[in-house]
Amino acid sequence: MSLTDHHIDDTGLIPYLEHRANIDDNARVAALVRQQSDPEKGWPRLIKNLETYRRLEKKVVTVSGVDIAVTLNETRAPSVTAKTFENAKSGRKPQCFLCHLDSEQRGLLTLDNRYIILVNPGITIPGDLTIASVQHDPQIVRDSFGDMLILSRKLTDYSIFFNGAMAGASSPHFHFQAGLKSTLIAERQIERLLNKNPKPAHLVTIFKNQSSQICFVDHFLRAMYLLISRDDGEIKRFFEIFYKVLQNVDQAIRNIPNIPDFGSIITSLEINEYEPRMNLMLKFDPSSGQYLLAIFPKIFNRPQAYFRRGDEQILVGMAIKESLGNLISCRRSDYQKLYQQPHLIEEIYRDTSITRKMVDDLNAQLMAAFSL
Ligand SMILES: [Zn+2]
Repeated sequence: MSLTDHHIDDTGLIPYLEHRANIDDNARVAALVRQQSDPEKGWPRLIKNLETYRRLEKKVVTVSGVDIAVTLNETRAPSVTAKTFENAKSGRKPQCFLCHLDSEQRGLLTLDNRYIILVNPGITIPGDLTIASVQHDPQIVRDSFGDMLILSRKLTDYSIFFNGAMAGASSPHFHFQAGLKSTLIAERQIERLLNKNPKPAHLVTIFKNQSSQICFVDHFLRAMYLLISRDDGEIKRFFEIFYKVLQNVDQAIRNIPNIPDFGSIITSLEINEYEPRMNLMLKFDPSSGQYLLAIFPKIFNRPQAYFRRGDEQILVGMAIKESLGNLISCRRSDYQKLYQQPHLIEEIYRDTSITRKMVDDLNAQLMAAFSL
């Protein structure tokens, strides 16, 4: 069964549509989530995980003035423990879970049948999606950022996410993710930041013209950049410039204990690394016609605490959901350590985000690139 055979058309979605008039992609996706969650006709793995998800525990912890949601979420165990990009020495490749879907999995083909929208069984917020390329292309966004823009304009109820190969992706098969807009804690913090500029985080403007703005967000536990634009061509060009500058700055990722040097071979992609390490969130606001892209430049997805032994170890994988302030643990001992010891949260963000020196280099190089 090929990926395209898992497509469910509007006829199949009819029983799950809320309204039958004006069916758009947002309505189709909502219906797909209902179909896959249907205890009678849905996808058993998702239904089981929705049950487990009810036991989710969550606490909001203030770390150096920034609120972080710490969760105990067993449904995310496969992605938190995934070693897709880590087992450089083991020869045997595991079967690709995006090429080999479960028989009950259904999805929506989109963008000229080049992608299939699927429900993500690892639930951070119910309704989470995986948007996979129908071909087993490598997890590199360089030539697919334009697709990300189109997806954000189609799925206006959603924020579109991308995890770089060495920055938290759990599959080497090209995919985006999506989550209902503004459901993660840092998405709401970003909105407040752009409206009122609350402390301790604050915006450092790198570039601004009539239609666009580029900012670095300082004092936010992790490095974050915001690219905001009402112009399609401009946001694309800004991303390309940012990509090249970060690629340059990432050369500094060398000789850090437990962290692969930037540019090493990525075994699961069978290439030498060239894409800068980052997590992305993109959303499009149809009322203002504005894109908001958040870029989190990363050192790696694993903090040093992950590599400690015994009681000292904390099993976490830092990807886009974590960058957006939702720290996911799947063992109770880790969950307790995190909410009882906020300094550990601070350390985890510091370890996985680019260093202060890299931030300073990146800002200086961006200012030079954008002043041209
Ligand atoms: Zn695949």
